[in-house]
Amino acid sequence: MLQQPSIISKLPNVGTTIFTVMSALAIEHKSINLGQGFPDFPMSEELVALVNKAMQHGNNQYVHGCGLPLLRERLAEKCNGLYGSSVSGDTEITVTPGGTYAIYTALTAVLQPGDEVIVFEPAYDSYIPNIEINGGVPVLVPLQHPDYSINWDLVRSKISPRTKMIMLNSPHNPSGTVLSSHDIEQLRSIVTGTGIFILSDEVYEHLIFDNMKHESILRYPDLFARSFVCFSFGKVYHCTGWKMGYCVAPDALMKEFRKVHQFNCFTCNSPVQFAIAEFLLQQDKYLQLGAFLQQKRDFFQAGMQQTKFKALPSHGSYFQLYDYSAISDETEKDFAIRVTKEYGVTGIPTSAFYKSGTDNKVLRFCFAKKEDTLNAAIERLQKL
Ligand code: GLN
Repeated sequence: MLQQPSIISKLPNVGTTIFTVMSALAIEHKSINLGQGFPDFPMSEELVALVNKAMQHGNNQYVHGCGLPLLRERLAEKCNGLYGSSVSGDTEITVTPGGTYAIYTALTAVLQPGDEVIVFEPAYDSYIPNIEINGGVPVLVPLQHPDYSINWDLVRSKISPRTKMIMLNSPHNPSGTVLSSHDIEQLRSIVTGTGIFILSDEVYEHLIFDNMKHESILRYPDLFARSFVCFSFGKVYHCTGWKMGYCVAPDALMKEFRKVHQFNCFTCNSPVQFAIAEFLLQQDKYLQLGAFLQQKRDFFQAGMQQTKFKALPSHGSYFQLYDYSAISDETEKDFAIRVTKEYGVTGIPTSAFYKSGTDNKVLRFCFAKKEDTLNAAIERLQKL
């Protein structure tokens, strides 16, 4: 008998990501999709035209593997201008096919088998599989429900000689919490004088509300010296499907990141890089994002007051958590599926962001939608 090849899974406990599952369900049931995070309003026509122009001008071949030099230069100017850093586009920035890829690449560059990585839960659902596939061990620290703040004493108690990295995410997906200067101080007191790296997922850097300041790791040279900071153009320019982002890390760390990157995707889409390099000159296009999304958050929140859902505070990202305990005691997953099928609105069960499936009766809704879409969803949710 012929022997068949069979894979010994590197991710035996992983199924299909919740975003794919819930979006497919939303399509099947013609439900309003406030689940997976993506805007339903159009992106800038000007930026689309710039991509077109780049293609027509023949900018269709490989650019430098680390990213178009002009784009990296403009990104360095942007980072240094906004956060007072002094990063070099030449040696400290690499353009990547999305923020998730940047995170994966940083973990791959750093982790040795058995290395421990501190992860705050709820955590974006790629983090733990990304750690595990690289032989690392996620060490979970729950954020404190319902404000999702960090208990730094708990973090301290989880540090061991094997701790290789701490992963941060601010503004935070799914809770919308934002790191404070107190958090930065606590982080500093833990990592100073250790060999611990920081991975800072800052893809929602501009989606920050209520006059809060984005505590980018780029603001702090001592912390940046041990950090990989990951960003996404999809979140900034409403083009999640372009799958473009970048990583910023100090020279020595970036060298290792680039070794991994060059034999993975090698280089990213060229015309988009030419276009973004030009578009980045218009600072207002990203600086007004916070106000734009805050208005959407407030619009959605005001409408949701006519439902039995209770809003948990969101100060950033384009997500807000809603407690539904006044409606049902079903699990988050069952509730999310039933609301999709019976009421035609899709959210994400927050339990999907916990390895243990912690269930606080909370759904995540994405409010980066047209007002009509939000209104239609609210009208349906009022029936619950
Ligand atoms: N970041 C988006 C979210 O949290 C989804 C991205 C994806 O589907 N992988 O909804």
